[in-house]
Amino acid sequence: MQYDYDDQNIFAKILRGEIPNQTVCENDHALAFNDINPQAPVHVLVIPKGPYVSLDHFAQDASADGQVGFMQLVAEVCRLTDVAGGFRAISNTRTHGVQDVPHYHMHIIGGRQLGRMLHD
Ligand code: AMP
Repeated sequence: MQYDYDDQNIFAKILRGEIPNQTVCENDHALAFNDINPQAPVHVLVIPKGPYVSLDHFAQDASADGQVGFMQLVAEVCRLTDVAGGFRAISNTRTHGVQDVPHYHMHIIGGRQLGRMLHD
């Protein structure tokens, strides 16, 4: 499948340093920062540094090193934040998934008891 990446999206601007962010950690392949509108005590977004619009785009086209580096940063986020009691990882995708920012991101949400996964 072919994916079109818009380099004017807000996370692309964060990666270029045009917009500030509250960085949790980063490595060569990915950046993790606090969500500006947190839904729980822990709400971190993990994004690849490469131009991928969505989880399926990233899974299809990112290099093996890039995918491993991304997941290693997810592990670091889990070590650095208070998610010993558990958390939820969410990647909203396109229209049906209600994705607002068209740069792949994984939400890591935790630090409190969460509700059931879907309400509608
Ligand atoms: P999604 O609906 O999965 O695309 O989620 C996008 C997320 O990005 C939302 O949870 C927003 O609160 C978050 N967000 C938008 N702009 C920023 C920003 N400048 N810094 C941090 N998080 C942001």
